[in-house]
Amino acid sequence: MTHVNQDLFDRARTVIPGGVNSPVRAFGSVGGTPRFLVEARGPHVVDAEGREYVDLVASWGPAILGHAHPEVVAAVQAAAARGLSFGASTPSETELAEEIVGRLHAAGDSPLQKVRLVSTGTEATMTAIRLARGATGRDLLVKFAGHYHGHSDGLLAAAGSGLATLSLPGSAGVTEAVASQTLVVPYNDEAALEAVFALHGDQIAAVITEASPANMGVVPPAPGFNAFLIELAHRHGALVIFDEVLTGFRVDPAGYWGLSSRAGDVYQPDLFAFGKVVGGGMPLAALGGRAEIMDLLAPTGPVYQAGTLSGNPVAVAAGLTTLRLATDEVYARLDAVADKISTAASDALSAAGVAHVVQRAGNLFSFVFSAEPAHDYAAVQAQEGWRYPALFHSMLDQGVSLPPSVYEAWFVTAAHDDAAVDRILSALPAAARAAAE
Ligand code: PLP
Repeated sequence: MTHVNQDLFDRARTVIPGGVNSPVRAFGSVGGTPRFLVEARGPHVVDAEGREYVDLVASWGPAILGHAHPEVVAAVQAAAARGLSFGASTPSETELAEEIVGRLHAAGDSPLQKVRLVSTGTEATMTAIRLARGATGRDLLVKFAGHYHGHSDGLLAAAGSGLATLSLPGSAGVTEAVASQTLVVPYNDEAALEAVFALHGDQIAAVITEASPANMGVVPPAPGFNAFLIELAHRHGALVIFDEVLTGFRVDPAGYWGLSSRAGDVYQPDLFAFGKVVGGGMPLAALGGRAEIMDLLAPTGPVYQAGTLSGNPVAVAAGLTTLRLATDEVYARLDAVADKISTAASDALSAAGVAHVVQRAGNLFSFVFSAEPAHDYAAVQAQEGWRYPALFHSMLDQGVSLPPSVYEAWFVTAAHDDAAVDRILSALPAAARAAAE
């Protein structure tokens, strides 16, 4: 038995808070030793002890083609050879913006006309909020409990992802003044949203919502909920920010908005935030919307935003190549793999007598350990979440890497071939039995 991962973790903790550069990586809610990864290729990751795992984390979403796709790596190498960062405009930034805008236009009557590239999803949502405040001249922001939009101050109220994993209501260091400008509403609750608008409607700049939440586990919007919230916000002169950082270009070529539009559920948010897939595994994200709103950004407008590494040429090469390779066949494969794994996991849990519900939005899925589906954060928190660590560790011992928290989606890639899927399926029965104990 080697202790390489444990030794690396111990060493990291002496110079890095908690030994990690993003909290969920510390295995806090599942216990045990985090795996330190040294390589990722196709559907697999390899840890510092040389053990290979079939991966269902996919770098938390970006790797839809699988890890280190040869054409993406080649594009990154070619871009790097031409220069790592120019701090000036490049032709490929416009190509990426055109690709993003074009994808949504191909899916329906898209409100997305202009795009600004940034480096992280946090920046994309943070800037979208500043833009909404600048456009409306109002201060208040409405967010939903359990939705995660990154770690900027005003968005750390009742947030999902790492805050859910650590059971934190918010973050220390966020001032009362900032927190008081974020109104938190239970998700999928039309009456609660109406009540907030009845009280504060003329002061609300924007509602920010995950297009389909996946940071408290997967909790899809109730039929008609996105259209309802957009109509309500617009009636009160507020904007709607559609956070597609996680869903964008993953659940459909045009994200969750595209998936909905193709299904006839037509609605028009004002601003979009994208991240993860759009950067193909490199630090790149984007916000976009109608031209008259986006042109309020500097240098054409009064809302300031900037970035030394915004539109970085190496990151743009990764994003653009990933999107160009993400054909309809890729999305069909993602759906098929998600079907197989979610069905097999559900069958295994049923056979082991574990009450659960598969929660699903396109190819994103997760499980709640309860008899009823969860439609909001309170229901997700009330599940038998204590079952997850045993399931997680059984899978890990059998060579399958799941997200280390019950509050995260399982991410498939198009590189999950039949051999990788079979390895997952054969590990599930024992893991489900472990969850039953
Ligand atoms: N919005 C959503 C829906 C996310 O899932 C995330 C990250 O998980 C973010 C925003 C923040 O993105 P980043 O981690 O790139 O800052």
